[in-house]
Parts: sequence; C-alpha cells; structure tokens
Amino acid sequence: MRVRTAFNRMLRLPGAWVKDVAFSGEGVIVTVGLRRRGRVCSGCGARGLEIKDRRVKRWRHLDLGSSRCFIECELRRLRCPGCGDRPEMVEWARATSPYTRDFEDLAAWLAQQMAKSQITRLLRIGWESIGKIVVRVVADHLDEGRLDGLVWLGVDEISHGAGHRFLMCVADHEQGGVVWAAPGRNAATLQGFFDELTETQKSSIRGVSIDMSAGYEKAITAALPAAQVCFDPFHVIQLGGRATDQVRRAEWNEHGRSHTKHGTWIKGARYSLLKDPANQSDRQLATLAEVQKTNKRLYRGYLLLNELRLLYRVPRHQAPEQLQAWLAWASRSKLKPFVRLARTIRKHKAGVLAAIALELSNGRLEGLNSKIRLLSHRAYGFHSADALIAIIYLCCTNIQIALPHQ
Ligand SMILES: [Zn+2]
Repeated sequence: MRVRTAFNRMLRLPGAWVKDVAFSGEGVIVTVGLRRRGRVCSGCGARGLEIKDRRVKRWRHLDLGSSRCFIECELRRLRCPGCGDRPEMVEWARATSPYTRDFEDLAAWLAQQMAKSQITRLLRIGWESIGKIVVRVVADHLDEGRLDGLVWLGVDEISHGAGHRFLMCVADHEQGGVVWAAPGRNAATLQGFFDELTETQKSSIRGVSIDMSAGYEKAITAALPAAQVCFDPFHVIQLGGRATDQVRRAEWNEHGRSHTKHGTWIKGARYSLLKDPANQSDRQLATLAEVQKTNKRLYRGYLLLNELRLLYRVPRHQAPEQLQAWLAWASRSKLKPFVRLARTIRKHKAGVLAAIALELSNGRLEGLNSKIRLLSHRAYGFHSADALIAIIYLCCTNIQIALPHQ
C-alpha cells in the first residue's frame, strides 16, 4: 500500500485527499488537496465568491502515535461582501481554528471529564487554547431548544477571576442545568436574557427565584408579568446571618474589642452564633449557653436568626403566620441590623412567602452552583468571560460531544 493511500484511510479527512506526507522535527506533516472547489466563505457560507489570493494553512490534528500531526492545505482567500477577505471553508475544521474538528472535539470532550493540568499535558497545548476551542465547539453544539418550555427558573451570580467580575447564571429548577449565562450582575444583565426569549418562551415561565437584594424584581415583572417572583430562602437566611454578625461586631466594639476578656470571648463566639445549632458540636453549643447567660443582645441576635431559619421548616401553611411573628419581633428587638432587615423583608414579603409556597429554592441548585464555582476556578487562566461561559455550557447543559471514532 502506498503511503498516501494509507494516510487517506487513516485520517479520513472529509472533503480532502492526501497529496504528500513528510516527517519533520515538529511531527508528521500531511499535505492535502480539496476535493470540491466551491469557493464558499468560511465566515458566512456565501458561495461563488471571487478569489483574492492563495495561502497555505496548517491545522493541528490528532496525534499519530507519539508524534504531533499537522494538516497543510493551500486555501484560496475569497473576497466576501459580508466578511471581507476570508479563506474558503473546509469540512475538517471550524472557521478561524488552527485545529481540526476531530482535535477540537476530543479537547472539548476531555474538558467535560478532566481537570486542566491533565488535559494540557495529554494534548500538549495551553489552557488558553483549550478555552478558545471550547468556545467554538459550544457555539456548534449549544441546543437552541434549551430556552423552550421553561417553567421554574433560578437566577444566581458567581464571582470569577481577579477583581470583582461577576457572571449571571440562569438555571432550570426542573432539569437542574444552566440555560443561560452572561457577564454582569444587574437588572440590565437579566434583561439581556429576557431579550433572547420569544413571547412563547416567556409565556411558559411561571416562577423565578432570585436574591432579594439584587433588584431583579422590576426586570422580571416587566418582562414576565404572569410569573411569580420568589426570594430565594438561602439568600434570606444569609441576610439574617449578616444581621446577627453585625450585632456581634457592635457588641465587640462596645466591650473594648479584643482588649478585654469579654471582647475576645465575643469574637470567639462568632461560629456558634451563625452556624445552624443542629450542626454544632457540644463545645459550640456550650458557647451558646454561655452567650445566653452573659449577653442578652447577642443571644437575641442568635434567636432571631434561628427563628428566621424556622420559617423554612414549619409546615408550609404556617409560614405566613411565622413570618408575621418574626417581623413583629425583629422590629421590636432594639437591634438595629434586625430592625433594618425586618423593613427589607416586609417590603418583599410576597416573594419570600411565594418561594415557600412553590418550594422554589436556589438551594436545590446548590450542586450546580458548586460545580460552576469549580469550573470558574479551573477557568482562572482564561482571559475572557466568553471562555468561562462556554465551559459552563459545556459542562452544565446536556451537550453531547461525539469522539472522533464515533
Ligand atoms: Zn462571508
């Protein structure tokens, strides 16, 4: 069998035939010719364009044994009215990519399964390049239908990279996957999501759970007048924890900070005050008992937080009464942070109770959130939010990548 025939059979590059095979220090270089010469723009698919010039282009392909393999082909650059000067389309590679489809699909498949250092070592390319590959593969595979028939949604933000950059993720409570992600964390970011939905897609949404403090409510009621806004329990309890901690700090300041014995002790009680007593050790519970004896204000702050937790544990039909009682107590508590929190929660009462009635909690998406945080950590080396978003879609939607042999 001739070498060219052997390589034709082995590589099976669609739309190409092997002209020549050479071995160099870099690896195996396979020169191919195009079978059809339709002059199709690689940017937009426009046909029958005028040829500007010709250039040899090179793509990294799957390794052959331990050697890197490169495909080389002379391409015509076309004058496209829409895209400017663009090389012609080839079947074995995505537009603008320096890798073949097979190589990119393998890289994306690995990115779904493995950690960063293993992939870069196995494929012998940089992590930044993997990020760019994932962006291209996801653009090819992302299911447009994922925005159809959504009913219950959860909106959350994660911080990523250095500095305070945020990413908004919209998740589907029913499927448990991410349906949309974009940089930012304000009402305008969320509006970007609604702008992508058709009227039919909007009409199926019945509830959205959000963080109370983020000001998304207006955007939701404007875009989805029929949907119920729900304030996520996790965030409500988080606000309660913050209020308790503010009470603790005020008491610490009041008692000479860490210069006095009582001040130091207050500092040390933080964990016992904030953690759910159901998850505390005997020693931590003993600290709580001591708080009860020695500092009434601090203990009241602790009780208010716990009573707020209880709101989500009483039978659903008792929740309105429980909330009413909590609001009354918090308002009269003489603890400023809780008086303020009571005011906030009273303003958002309907949404707090709706989350309970509909059992809509972003806590149910916690597994998803920790996965996203892990991905964001892995994506630390990416310079663009686009690459992080693409890797979230790759790993948190149902994208199925076929391996080259499939
Ligand atoms: Zn074009």
